[in-house]
Amino acid sequence: MRVAAIGNRLCIVREDGAVDVERASGGAFSAEPQLAFERWDELRIWWAANEATAAASAAVDFGPADLGPPVPAPRQIFAIGLNYRDHAAEAGLDLPEGHPVVFAKFPASVTGPHASVELPSNAVDFEAELVVVISAGGHRISRDDAWSHIAGLTLGQDLSERLVQWRGPSPQFSLGKSYPGFSPIGPVVVTPEEFPDLDDIAIGCSLNGQAMQDGTSGDMVFTIPELVEQLSAVVDLLPGDLIFTGTPAGIGWTRDPRVVLRPGDRLVTTSDVIGEMTTTFTAR
Ligand code: ZN
Repeated sequence: MRVAAIGNRLCIVREDGAVDVERASGGAFSAEPQLAFERWDELRIWWAANEATAAASAAVDFGPADLGPPVPAPRQIFAIGLNYRDHAAEAGLDLPEGHPVVFAKFPASVTGPHASVELPSNAVDFEAELVVVISAGGHRISRDDAWSHIAGLTLGQDLSERLVQWRGPSPQFSLGKSYPGFSPIGPVVVTPEEFPDLDDIAIGCSLNGQAMQDGTSGDMVFTIPELVEQLSAVVDLLPGDLIFTGTPAGIGWTRDPRVVLRPGDRLVTTSDVIGEMTTTFTAR
């Protein structure tokens, strides 16, 4: 199942188009995309039983501009640093041992999969990431049980103002990664069974047509189930929370010469099963 927010309404996307969930269900489910994750298992059961009739009764025409963030108002957004071996190597930093590097991206930074984002400075970088969407939340979820607490995966960019990220005697990453529009996500949330191999999911991006990042989740230091276990060992995870799971090698900041995002740039983030997301940039 692939879920999107089209015209700010919860929709399920099929090969041949999209279906408006509130209309197709006769009001049994809310049109509000964020609420889907509170009743995720019910939604999946309803869709499995009603897909054929629902698709005929509530089809939605849409184009890329109609797609909003499929998780528009998460209560918590976690992000993981140094979670790919090749990225830790290019950053010249040691791999984390025992516990992942965790920071927050504040929810006001969420935007859709075809957003135009203002650059606050000339030190903004890209990080293509797979993003976990939590369904049934909980405290102390074991890795063996983790996938049953995950609604699905979407694409994200962990946009990062590097000077703000690293400033001060004890750098705190969260502010530099939370300017308006710095958390584009989408285009759809894809349920786990749609992936042929959950331990080998492609993630990459290109900038103005040039390939920049081309990784696989198989290179993660902490797997997705391990991240859910480690985060929920401390925090109560809530339905609709997001986990940005880290970025593979190829970011701009560690290149020689350094690459930063410029006004007019076009950043395309891709993953084979999920699709693609295009972010453009404007001057402050
Ligand atoms: Zn990141």
